[in-house]
Amino acid sequence: MDSQSVQLVEIVSKIADLAIRRACGLQYSLENLPPSLRKPAREIIEHIASQLVLHDRDTLRCKLCGRGPFTRKGLYLHIRRVHLDHVYQLARRELEEYLWRLKNT
Ligand SMILES: [Zn+2]
Repeated sequence: MDSQSVQLVEIVSKIADLAIRRACGLQYSLENLPPSLRKPAREIIEHIASQLVLHDRDTLRCKLCGRGPFTRKGLYLHIRRVHLDHVYQLARRELEEYLWRLKNT
């Protein structure tokens, strides 16, 4: 892989983790992302986070497989353990779409 695609893999991994944190209501920060990508990353994170968690009154469930209820931390660990590849694919697709639009519009 060239250095640009290595960098993309790292950024996608970070976005995937941040989206899971966001979904579970844990603290997250965009500081470790390149400044030029923070704004699109924030939108991607919000979009992905909305697909991961079901808020059922006071409890949290996994929207991808229905398991739960979980604590915030428990749900974070569950999604990372079971669904990380899926979340990674979502993040990669959205970031690639953003970069494509940037180049072609
Ligand atoms: Zn699940």
